[in-house]
Amino acid sequence: MFFSGKKSIALLAAASLLLTFLLSGCSAVKSLETANTKISKTGFAFDTVIVITLYGTDDESILDGCMELADYYNRLLSATLEGSDIWNINHAEGKDTTVNEETYLLLQTALSYASKSEGAFNPALGTVIDLWDFNSESACVPSDEDLAKALEHIDYNNILLKADNIVQLLDPELKVNLGAIAKGYIADRMKDYLTSMDVSSAIINLGGNVYALGEKPDGSKYTVGIQKPFDDTGSAITSVSISNQSIVTSGTYERYFEQDGVLYHHILDPDTGYPADNGLLSVTILSKESVDGDALSTTCFVLGLDEGLSLIESTSDTEALFITEDYEFHYSSGFPK
Ligand code: AMP
Ligand code: MG
Repeated sequence: MFFSGKKSIALLAAASLLLTFLLSGCSAVKSLETANTKISKTGFAFDTVIVITLYGTDDESILDGCMELADYYNRLLSATLEGSDIWNINHAEGKDTTVNEETYLLLQTALSYASKSEGAFNPALGTVIDLWDFNSESACVPSDEDLAKALEHIDYNNILLKADNIVQLLDPELKVNLGAIAKGYIADRMKDYLTSMDVSSAIINLGGNVYALGEKPDGSKYTVGIQKPFDDTGSAITSVSISNQSIVTSGTYERYFEQDGVLYHHILDPDTGYPADNGLLSVTILSKESVDGDALSTTCFVLGLDEGLSLIESTSDTEALFITEDYEFHYSSGFPK
């Protein structure tokens, strides 16, 4: 059917108005339908359980997209996966390795935390981490001799970041490990992805590394529990209400083994090569970017209560809760109690 002249323009205008109305009517109905929708998916990457929860959408493909991102970054940043950027750097025998720009930038961030904390946070700790092997069922305390050898190769100044995304290890026996910062970085990238997919309300949980995007559908903040150390039921010792914020905890109870009645946990003091032993059970960091929360939770754990708290007080938009072995809470000044 063809129209001509003014009449056709008027009819076309009416038709397009109707179409617009119908479309907006559809999306109004659709958004009413999905406003209270909640979908969730659980996966496994970087040795931890991932749980992504989206509100206000029923689009399962976005959850799949999150899992694909986790897999992508695992293949880029894992120290143990053959062919990852970090694996390539660690096996280059001191030669240049060209890496993905994101890997390069994350290494830059990790090195800045290393120098800020004078090595308490150390992305060059791979030899020592591998020796303890906390992910193994048969983990045990390494010999003094092995530990001394491993400690000879942890100088982060030997990670050289050259132009054009090239990385060179000046000590070929050094092993880069980004396990203390990668999950935070990935949580941030997932947040960006969700935002690009018009998701405005979500919880990204990468093994306790949590980012809360937006608010709950009723407009209230999310309540995120902080795990009670060593509680097998996973119950919360306290909780925090947050929105558009990251909450990350580093704790002794997350990975550990017992030998001769002594508990050995996975957050290592680069000065000794042994688990940091300073009376802390956990450090929780609230921050805008999860990459900072992840780096800082590990850093503050190694620094201990006093130095850790003063680092947090001098860092803007960042708060912390330290839990000591007597289960006392120590808050930074702006922590939302
Ligand atoms: P997180 O759970 O973020 O505190 O990270 C702990 C993980 O980072 C450990 O399982 C080790 O793989 C690694 N790690 C342990 N101690 C350190 C440290 N002092 N600096 C950097 N990475 C560390
Ligand atoms: Mg960390």
